[in-house]
Amino acid sequence: TYVVIDNCIACKYTDCVEVCPVDCFYEGENMLVIHPDECIDCGVCEPECPADAIRPDTEPEMEPWVEFNRKYSEKW
Ligand code: SF4
Repeated sequence: TYVVIDNCIACKYTDCVEVCPVDCFYEGENMLVIHPDECIDCGVCEPECPADAIRPDTEPEMEPWVEFNRKYSEKW
């Protein structure tokens, strides 16, 4: 799955939301998040993000962000 990291904070672009084929972006408190169970890992959103805020969760330092994305997307 892909995750959104803090580069997204206060970002006003929603290019990622527009390209996601399964609509799995949700609004966190001050940034977007990706629902980890809904993301189909297509990778389409990653190059669309002007803030470089979307990363694959396979990077080891992404672990806290995986939890963060889950927490804020499951509210919906
Ligand atoms: Fe949506 Fe694909 Fe990005 Fe996952 S990787 S959030 S399915 S566009």
